[in-house]
Amino acid sequence: MMNCRPFPWRYIKRVLETRESFFGASIEFTKAEFHDQAHACPDCGKLPDDLTWVPVDTAVETWPRGEGRSGFVTCCMECKTQIDFFVEDELTQLETELRAVGESSQDLLWSESDPVE
Ligand SMILES: [Zn+2]
Repeated sequence: MMNCRPFPWRYIKRVLETRESFFGASIEFTKAEFHDQAHACPDCGKLPDDLTWVPVDTAVETWPRGEGRSGFVTCCMECKTQIDFFVEDELTQLETELRAVGESSQDLLWSESDPVE
């Protein structure tokens, strides 16, 4: 059901370690916005509200191609499954402008050549 390539798990874990509190309010807002579109874990049936919603950016290579996206990926950490990726248009717009001038709001960047595992 992922509409883009999976994010590297190492990246997701680093995001969770460093950004969880900062993004708390934003995650609640996103959950409310995308709740009806979110799927349960296909492996264990865990419901969207109980999944881990992780704020992510697509790989560094996607931004110069105009394919960069900021949003949230829903993860079942027990099954190690990434279920849905929801794009946040406002975050994407902001990040696109920053990357266009060689900057980024994120200090955690990843490459398409990074392994998913
Ligand atoms: Zn699961």
